[in-house]
Amino acid sequence: MTQPQDFAGRSALVTGAASGIGAACARQLAARGAKRLILVDVDAAGLDALDCDCSVERVVGSVGDEALWRDLEPRLEGLDHAVVNAGIGAGGAIADLSLADWRRVMEINLDGAFLTLSAAMRAMRAHGRGGSAVITSSSTAVKPVPGIGPYGVSKAAVSHMARIAAVEGAANKIRVNAIAPGGVDTAIWESSEEFRASVAENGREATFKAMASTTPSGRFASADEMAETMLFMLSDAGANITGHVLVSDGGFTL
Ligand code: NAD
Repeated sequence: MTQPQDFAGRSALVTGAASGIGAACARQLAARGAKRLILVDVDAAGLDALDCDCSVERVVGSVGDEALWRDLEPRLEGLDHAVVNAGIGAGGAIADLSLADWRRVMEINLDGAFLTLSAAMRAMRAHGRGGSAVITSSSTAVKPVPGIGPYGVSKAAVSHMARIAAVEGAANKIRVNAIAPGGVDTAIWESSEEFRASVAENGREATFKAMASTTPSGRFASADEMAETMLFMLSDAGANITGHVLVSDGGFTL
């Protein structure tokens, strides 16, 4: 159940905050009392458009850029929470992909998650109070979906990174978990040519409905639903949960 002020006085880092799940996390953190948010995204206009009722620092840049984290790290002092969420979708079968295409996905979805989590854990270790992080993985880390090889591999890797970081962070009271969503109605799908063609022909709602036909619940989730579950793990309500990959997919992986 939502606790109205359970992030009161806390500071949180959210990557991929300009849109979808990250934006929903930022809005809900602010609504639940967070005093300071550091929001990172490549999309400057999206970050500007996000309205959060607390102190907000907007950082425009790529999570895969090591220099960004070198500059940002001093500003993470006192950090309580991290939502390691920025990511891109990607098409391509293993047999048909170039190394450059493979690396483009890994640079954002895996290297970017590593750089984010690593910087956040150092900040939490430094102040000694501990903290928590949630990584946005994917149900495609659990169930092999053809045609999105590097995406599924990057997400399987970040799920395991959550488990390793949970063991490493425990002595410093740092918890690390991951969520593995099934389909969520966000802008990420717009990078798919097939998706755009179907929306042009059938409309957005019908397209998502057709895509959800292999999911037992028969629907895609909303970004707000995902954020609510992520904030449960991030909050003190999840104080004994660490190293867990929570599948929230309407039954897609069953
Ligand atoms: P989205 O496209 O709405 O949001 C992703 C955000 O990440 C965007 O604002 C984008 O600008 C940002 N971003 C992309 N590359 C970046 C980079 N290099 N540095 C910083 N920011 C960058 O999509 P979403 O669905 O909200 O995606 C959030 C996370 O959820 C992603 O990691 C995605 O893989 C994961 N996910 C999404 C779904 C889904 O169906 N939507 C399912 C499972 C997992």
